[in-house]
Amino acid sequence: MRKAWCIILLTITCAILSINIWAKDNAVILLYHHVSNSTPKVTSVSPDTFRQHMQYLADNHKVLPLQQVIQALQNNRPLPEKTVVITFDDGYNNIYDNAHPILKEFAFPYTVFVNPPLIGKVNYQLNWQQVKLMAAENASFANHGKQHNHLLSKNAEGSQQDWLRHTMQDINDAEKMLEQNIGYSLKYFAYPYGEFDKQLKARLSEQGYIGFAQHSGAIASYSDFSALPRYPAAGVYSNIETLKVKLNSLAMPVTAVFPDDPKIELPVQNENLTFNVKIEDLAPQQINCFQNGQVLNKSLKGNAISVDLEPISQPGRHRVNCTAPSISEKGRYYWFSQPFFMPTAEGKWLD
Ligand SMILES: [Zn+2]
Repeated sequence: MRKAWCIILLTITCAILSINIWAKDNAVILLYHHVSNSTPKVTSVSPDTFRQHMQYLADNHKVLPLQQVIQALQNNRPLPEKTVVITFDDGYNNIYDNAHPILKEFAFPYTVFVNPPLIGKVNYQLNWQQVKLMAAENASFANHGKQHNHLLSKNAEGSQQDWLRHTMQDINDAEKMLEQNIGYSLKYFAYPYGEFDKQLKARLSEQGYIGFAQHSGAIASYSDFSALPRYPAAGVYSNIETLKVKLNSLAMPVTAVFPDDPKIELPVQNENLTFNVKIEDLAPQQINCFQNGQVLNKSLKGNAISVDLEPISQPGRHRVNCTAPSISEKGRYYWFSQPFFMPTAEGKWLD
């Protein structure tokens, strides 16, 4: 009899523990640039909208420092449900003027990815004194490269190896400069414009960095830590109603993604995007992939998905977003995004 009770208790405990297993191996990273009324709309939120976002986070989510979230996920430690991280790219001084006071009011930690050689040297950038003040009040600083260049842009004469060595040298130089000024090195790198290729992310990872990109999606222990997705929250993406869906999203557990290199040199016609998905908490037939607002045709074979891509003929940044409802978490969606980057016919990369 005692044995039977033990088994029942154990079963109940296991069931309780497994209910939120997906929600606890999950976080969402938001990406901001400007917080200002007078900067380009596409990369800006007004201070009022930013406050609205922060109030929504305070009421519905748990905001944690980036380092704490990365360490938890990499060590398979559970996170609070609905964990969110706040990040900024580019180190504009309006972060100090307009965002920092609001973040301080909410006592929210945040991370700013900066180009260290530009700090204090350009009039719209933060200066090191502001960086230190912010760092003393819950902000951390990380690497966004030496200059804000398109990293995939290559010198026609140099070899592929030269380009990789050069690019990594610049990233390491920026990291050193950060460390000299703020006293620590996180080895977190945000790709300028969110652009990367297979080789660069592999090299970055080999050298101990974690990479952050700009395609959308949540992150989990099974994410690709050499190019973690973040949700842009500016311009059209600042609408709180659409942002709520993203803040509640879960990282879709995908493997064997092909094409596995987001850089495309030539226009894409009649291509497929294929991937495998773990099906514990989602039904593959409920996965929908979107490109330019269109639902893509898909075919399924067990847990292998193949979608017909729309032609990609314009230079620039493209992405395919795939979503599927969670079975255990009502109203929440798994999210997977595959970016594609294409230069102009002359080999230039668009801002
Ligand atoms: Zn940037």
